[in-house]
Amino acid sequence: MAKSRFEYVRDFEQRDVLIPETYIVVRIDGKKFHEFSNYYKFEKPNDMRALKLMNACAKNVLLQYRSEVILAYGESDEYSFILRSDTTLYNRRIDKISSLFVSLFTSQYVMLWSKFFPNDPLDVKHLPFFDSRCVSYPNLKCIKDYLSWRFVDTHINNLYNTVFWQLVQKCGLTTREAENKLSGTVSSEKQEILFSECGINYNNEPEMFKKGSLVTRKGEILHIDVIKKIDELFEGY
Ligand code: ATP
Ligand code: ATP
Ligand code: MG
Ligand code: MG
Ligand code: MG
Ligand code: MG
Repeated sequence: MAKSRFEYVRDFEQRDVLIPETYIVVRIDGKKFHEFSNYYKFEKPNDMRALKLMNACAKNVLLQYRSEVILAYGESDEYSFILRSDTTLYNRRIDKISSLFVSLFTSQYVMLWSKFFPNDPLDVKHLPFFDSRCVSYPNLKCIKDYLSWRFVDTHINNLYNTVFWQLVQKCGLTTREAENKLSGTVSSEKQEILFSECGINYNNEPEMFKKGSLVTRKGEILHIDVIKKIDELFEGY
């Protein structure tokens, strides 16, 4: 194609690429989902429909990029896609990978919304959108630690939120009172409060809430202890 005299402006574009031979994590996270979840009246602290919707979106994104993605892991309004270290997807350009993953995820979310929320049509003033980042990790130890980090985060947040909302919804504490009661407590103390004051055994909470969701390359969605299975999950990578 003939070049115009304006063509030089292309030289201003940045083409940042991720370091070769490193694992790539693309993490997407819902924008202001605290507000979004209030608007659409998500059950607190865990709306099963919303989590299943996130899982369905992640599965479809993974299947689209099946040959590049090792696995995806999600909790709450976030999902991480872990790409093989030898991927040459979009010549490893950050902009391309990040924007295509997050826009595909968002399209899926909008497309599948009505399947999970049949009685709550999306409102044009409250549409879902997501941020995205790419991070490269130099070796398998780091990538396993990354996944363990998100897994531990799921556990910590879920335990806190479960006790917090039980104290508010079941025991009639104000949010401030519940916050004060939980401040400075360790994991076992939270489980004890949940058991003795709310009559709930944390172990019996749904696996999806406690462990987050893992999407495998086969498209299976599992709720497992990823730390225990970490070596198995990355076998061959
Ligand atoms: P930011 O734009 O900075 O990400 P945010 O409001 O999305 O802000 P997050 O730290 O990402 O903040 O937290 C997501 C929030 O969305 C949770 O704290 C929770 O209130 C809500 N949320 C997400 N998923 C669910 C769900 N399945 N059920 C109930 N609430 C949810
Ligand atoms: P890439 O993923 O690299 O962007 P692409 O197929 O999207 O690949 P583009 O250079 O962006 O390539 O070109 C977009 C193409 O989409 C056009 O060449 C044209 O074929 C088609 N297209 C886009 N908008 C329209 C439109 N309004 N009407 C008809 N065709 C369109
Ligand atoms: Mg955030
Ligand atoms: Mg968010
Ligand atoms: Mg989040
Ligand atoms: Mg195009």
